[in-house]
Amino acid sequence: MSVPAVPFLDLRSGDDAADVRAAIDRVIASGWFVLGPEVEAFEAEFAAASGARFAVGVGNGTDALTLLLRAADIGPGDEVIVPALTAAFSAMAVLAAGAQPVFADLDPARLTLDPGACEAVITPRTRAIMPVHLYGQAADVPALRALADSHSLLLVEDCCQAHLATCAGVPVGTTSFGGAFSFYPTKNLGALGDGGAVITNDAAVAERLRRLRNGGQRERYQHDEPGLNSRLDELQAAVLRARLPCLAVQTARRRAIAAEYRRTLPAWLPPVAQVDAGHVYHLFPVRSSDRDTLQRHLHAAGIDTLVHYPLALTEQRAFASPTPAPCPVAERAAREVLSLPMRPGLSDADVAAVVEAAHSFQKGRVHA
Ligand SMILES: *Cc1c(COP(=O)(O)O)cnc(C)c1O
Repeated sequence: MSVPAVPFLDLRSGDDAADVRAAIDRVIASGWFVLGPEVEAFEAEFAAASGARFAVGVGNGTDALTLLLRAADIGPGDEVIVPALTAAFSAMAVLAAGAQPVFADLDPARLTLDPGACEAVITPRTRAIMPVHLYGQAADVPALRALADSHSLLLVEDCCQAHLATCAGVPVGTTSFGGAFSFYPTKNLGALGDGGAVITNDAAVAERLRRLRNGGQRERYQHDEPGLNSRLDELQAAVLRARLPCLAVQTARRRAIAAEYRRTLPAWLPPVAQVDAGHVYHLFPVRSSDRDTLQRHLHAAGIDTLVHYPLALTEQRAFASPTPAPCPVAERAAREVLSLPMRPGLSDADVAAVVEAAHSFQKGRVHA
């Protein structure tokens, strides 16, 4: 089947098309394209939506993480604990800051950083713990913060899949050193290209981030320290401003789709557990020991799926360590997870088609 009946993604503008077009026209007419009024307004609006005092717009989510680490003076010689199952860019950001990612295994229910596993890999060089709110569900932030505090470590949150997510009712990224967001087009809030932001409640950290994203400049041509060139474009900020007001309704739709999947999927195909009601369902992964066969079956039935992620970071050559510590929970999850279509534009009929295709796989197995 060439065009799937239920594509995984559909990033064409929907109801927001006219607002996005007007935002683009406004920027073109203004003649101002980098770090201007649209970025400033978006930073204020995104901070408010995220429950933080400050937001700083940057070039992408990876840079947002790198800049947070740089703002904490984390660099060469330092170690940062990263969960063993996440987008590789979480760990790339640590390398870009000059520090070393150290992988820790996951809580088997929600597949986020396990505090016990984290504690086991703390060394005298450890400076920070970087939980990733994977698939849109917060890691156990209170437990990780208690662990970080007891070892004098910083907590730096990868919120790239977790726009508007909460942990026990508290917005992610607001009770730690800061949170990093991505506006890559496929994220819950996506630009028409790359974009990112850092949130923090600390005015001095926000000020330092504004310098670090712009070559370390305090004011024009006054470079106080080495920085990155990682700025959010006015065009992308304007597009994000047009889309941000729709995010809460779109998140509610994602949650309704997740509830319907949970109600109707076959019992032999368990979704990754929802432990926290603040889950924003960036993705909807299920687990199967027969994952690759299931994926082929769904594809033949017109249902598009992806794997997040097929390798644990402990298995990626980019991070090969001379003393690899196995992370069995993450490595097993990488063999079993399969992300079903999850986006606000899915119709009830689309969801029913996914569920029906999943049930027909069981029938195929029972009668084979
Ligand atoms: C997308 C993503 C990133 C990187 O964001 P970019 O904007 O692509 O740089 C980092 N971490 C996680 C968990 C992500 O999903």
